[in-house]
Amino acid sequence: MLIGFDIGGTKIEVCVMDDAGKELKKRREPTQRNYSGFIEQISAMVAECDQEFGRIEKIGMGLPGAISPATGLVKNANSTFLNNNDLKHDLEVKLNRQVNIANDANCFALSEAVDGAGKDGQLVFGVIVGTGCGGGFVFNKQVIVGPNALCGEWGHNPLPSYNSEIDGPDRECYCGRKNCIETFISGTGFGVTGEQLFGKPIATKDIIEKYRKGDELAKKAYQTLVDQMARCLASIVNILDPDAIVLGGGLSNVDELYQDLPKAMEPYIFSDSVQLNVLKAEYGDSSGIRGAAWLCSDEVK
Ligand SMILES: [Zn+2]
Repeated sequence: MLIGFDIGGTKIEVCVMDDAGKELKKRREPTQRNYSGFIEQISAMVAECDQEFGRIEKIGMGLPGAISPATGLVKNANSTFLNNNDLKHDLEVKLNRQVNIANDANCFALSEAVDGAGKDGQLVFGVIVGTGCGGGFVFNKQVIVGPNALCGEWGHNPLPSYNSEIDGPDRECYCGRKNCIETFISGTGFGVTGEQLFGKPIATKDIIEKYRKGDELAKKAYQTLVDQMARCLASIVNILDPDAIVLGGGLSNVDELYQDLPKAMEPYIFSDSVQLNVLKAEYGDSSGIRGAAWLCSDEVK
């Protein structure tokens, strides 16, 4: 039996799966937004699962942040009450069992690599293009973390071949840098592109709807997004040449991308012939929590 937690700023979700990946229980509740309350909350949710399924020995957890290899403390979590705490230690003491914690983008990538869209690949790049733009690499069903817990964090690289995109101004990123990938190819970034073109705020789903009806401005917004994504993903292919690139998050629901992206990537790839697998996440919004549960599997880690 596996148990995974997906920690969000507003909600915590717990999922119990069997070893074959069958979901046996799934429940969410609002996040207690203070640290001691949060530890108590996780403890109560684990106790509930124990009662239902018997004691589950390991707990997996996906966080919108990372554990700093230097200090062991949580860093970069948007649920800021978690930052600078030794969460793994505190939970292991409280729960009296092993707790495996990973970044939520890494959990997403793991889920899709283990039994999702990338299950046939050896090296899988999982990308979340939602509010932000995260990513994670999985090799032979193991998450690659890296000495700085940064592996796959491509969202804060500068956009490749940046050339005043559609003549807009530099985009300031919350990280303090300018023109980060995340400021263009996330749902948020695509919204900014739409706003520049339409001259007023516009929801990303409305841009896509207009594009499908043949609207010229929406077509330009969409083609800009495709070309930006193509440049970003091609730079990954030129370095690591993954077997599969799996997209998750809001923008991954734009089905046209899976045909248009590989074509748009080709000119940026250093090869005369390329085989590109850009795939839609099989488990959608459930991938984060499934990956967290897989962190507890002896075969997967
Ligand atoms: Zn940034």
